[in-house]
Amino acid sequence: MRIIQFRPEGIYCIPGDFYIDPWRPVDMALITHGHADHARSGMKKYLCHHFTVPILKSRIGADIQVQGIGYQESIRINQVKVSFHPAGHIIGSAQIRLEYKGKVVVISGDYKLQEDGLSTPFESVKCHEFVTESTFGLPIYQWKTVQEQNAALQDWVGYNRDNGRTSVFVGYSLGKAQRIMQAISGMGPMYVHYSIHRLNEAYKSVGIHLPDYQVVDFREDVKYLNQGIVIVPPALVDSAMLRKIPNMAYALCSGWMTVRGARRWRSADAGFAISDHADWPDLLEAIKATQADRVYVTHGQTAVFSKFLNEIGMESEEVKTEFGDEHSVDSLEGGGE
Ligand SMILES: [Zn+2]
Ligand SMILES: [Zn+2]
Repeated sequence: MRIIQFRPEGIYCIPGDFYIDPWRPVDMALITHGHADHARSGMKKYLCHHFTVPILKSRIGADIQVQGIGYQESIRINQVKVSFHPAGHIIGSAQIRLEYKGKVVVISGDYKLQEDGLSTPFESVKCHEFVTESTFGLPIYQWKTVQEQNAALQDWVGYNRDNGRTSVFVGYSLGKAQRIMQAISGMGPMYVHYSIHRLNEAYKSVGIHLPDYQVVDFREDVKYLNQGIVIVPPALVDSAMLRKIPNMAYALCSGWMTVRGARRWRSADAGFAISDHADWPDLLEAIKATQADRVYVTHGQTAVFSKFLNEIGMESEEVKTEFGDEHSVDSLEGGGE
């Protein structure tokens, strides 16, 4: 008995007649989290975690039909028992558990096991079939602890300050930017790009506290940023806006900084391997903990990773999806603005 099917529109739940993170317009979409490649526009109805509701409204439109649900809360959709469980990726991110006639499938979206202090920590959910990402599914990807990552950011800000430089961090507007803000809180006046501010508002609306900051307007003179801390999204790299910042040193924050290969990022002054995705050991740990008999690998290093799982005795299959255009080294991971 099959519960899910990979269709041109997205991951389809057969007995439930709905989709999970579809990439084409459908009637009913269950959304794992607010990144653009998982939460697209054009769905008649959306169901997501409560914390994802303001993100979808901010990104897709205030007039969408969206219903929120809590973690562990379960509802029935056409005979299928559906529940959302923390994925630890960004705020509101969820693994979606489907149960039908005793069989359980979990679609994990994007996830990480490291606790970032902002997202609800990842919860392991046992299942028969597990759908996983593999953005960093190669053994070279192994993160430092969050404490070590934060200390590295703080040291860099301190070093720049001692040398009269302005610290500019480049990180995704949803998830990464807020982690950077939290890590360097109290180290000096903080300024963020408007796109980050917009998503900070979504965090605040669900009661998540972020450090104080001001929004930068790059149309104006930005000399006042001198020796402060600025956080901008990846789209601003190599832009005229960035070049207006006085005495700037800029750092990229992404799991891809493990290997500084991509030409586009070579001019950065620093790179920090900080990611909202599981690294190699954590992917394996999470997958083993599900005790699934079958693992579908949807995006990232799908071919290599599913081959490896088969070699260690876990039945696995690579699946073609339309996630992950945004998870490439060129986009600094994440999932769109
Ligand atoms: Zn994501
Ligand atoms: Zn993804």
